[in-house]
Amino acid sequence: MDIAIIGSGYVGLVTGACFADVGHNVICVDNDERKVKSLLGGHIPIFEPGLEELVHRNVSAHRLHFTSSIEEGVDRSQVVFIAVPTPPQADGSVDMTYIEQVAREIAAVMKEYRVIVDKSTVPVKTGEKVANTIRRYNKAGVDFDVVSNPEFLREGCAVQDLMCPDRIVIGSSSDRALALMKKVYEPFMAPIMVTDINSAELIKHAANSFLALKISYINAISAICEASGADVEKVADGIGSDKRIGRAFLNAGLGYGGSCFPKDLAAFIAISEELGAPFNLLKEVQRINRTQRERFVKRVRETLWVLKGKRIAVWGLTFKPDTDDVRSSVAIDIVNDLLREGADVIAYDPKGMDKVRELNLAKGALLADSALDAVRDAEALVIATEWKEFEAINLDHVRKIMHTPIVFDGRNQFDPATMKDLGFRYYAIGRGDAA
Ligand code: NAD
Repeated sequence: MDIAIIGSGYVGLVTGACFADVGHNVICVDNDERKVKSLLGGHIPIFEPGLEELVHRNVSAHRLHFTSSIEEGVDRSQVVFIAVPTPPQADGSVDMTYIEQVAREIAAVMKEYRVIVDKSTVPVKTGEKVANTIRRYNKAGVDFDVVSNPEFLREGCAVQDLMCPDRIVIGSSSDRALALMKKVYEPFMAPIMVTDINSAELIKHAANSFLALKISYINAISAICEASGADVEKVADGIGSDKRIGRAFLNAGLGYGGSCFPKDLAAFIAISEELGAPFNLLKEVQRINRTQRERFVKRVRETLWVLKGKRIAVWGLTFKPDTDDVRSSVAIDIVNDLLREGADVIAYDPKGMDKVRELNLAKGALLADSALDAVRDAEALVIATEWKEFEAINLDHVRKIMHTPIVFDGRNQFDPATMKDLGFRYYAIGRGDAA
């Protein structure tokens, strides 16, 4: 199949590379000329395990191409995927300007039948609006179909998620479009769920909201555990081993962040209100998420008393491990909370440092070259993202080079008893009092 992907970010680039790897001929389009130039030069602008090798292999095999021309993309493909941002507006509703612009641009250059696939996360009923826009702006009256195909990949394991998806959701009312979509996905040998367009769009927001709800559920329990001396990890194992519930997304911590969950929840709330069916439960999910971070910072403050002038090390800046994505990262929020209280923050992240510098986040924090450099002379260590790298560090050495060995583990990465034996004052989430 000849496929175009409009938007070469975390979703578009990984999708394009995976489609090429299963044998399709793919052209990735992006209006960021710098990004396209760097991709053409062999540089991958994001970190995602396995992506670099995948891109290089398929570029060499002439199956993966890059351009900043949407016309070239649309001309050279049968199916055109849209994977541009759908950021939140101040009131939580989705800013649809990127999608609308791409729809207009496709319409302006489309000369024969195309399947236009919305892969971005969008409000229910967007398909109809995209179709109306294309119809309005395509002067030639060319035939086309709009399909919804939401993406469920997780950053940090996006290649694997794309190659072996749990399911592929295709929302379409056209047999012609469906036949082409099945050809696109045939090589992945994954279950395909065909629905109407509205249901496919809704599945994505409903899925992300449910996952966020699970996180807030266990975080609310973590507060009860702290108040009662119970251990949230044991509680999570106990409830998660029930197959009807499942253990995934029951990890207590600093709450969810990143470029998807916060914005998708806000969007779903706004959509539900607009449709006259307000989903207020999700507002409580948001509140718990906020409170979790506030409780954590309060604990740091209560333990260290005055934060002003105290050197606090922070391990982890990305919104989760195995990515360089720092957008809406809770770790960055924590750094900024500590800076606001006057602490001297020195932070380290295995992959996120470049993006933190590029986006000028965590202004005022020092950035260390290594996890050990960060903790030297620190009066406390905050673990904000659970990178595997931290588990391989000699903690005995960490204790020796810290000014005072106090650890606030916001991701329950370490075992309280071991930390106590090593001589740390150790605070975890929902695991009773300090070890
Ligand atoms: P991103 O910001 O990483 O990438 C978007 C890309 O689109 C950028 O490279 C940008 O330059 C490009 N772009 C913007 N306007 C354009 C235009 N008019 N023409 C061509 N290119 C344009 O975003 P992302 O994380 O890949 O997310 C894209 C969509 O996928 C969003 O709706 C998001 O909610 C959804 N999604 C994201 C994830 C994730 O984990 N990142 C997972 C599932 C779904």
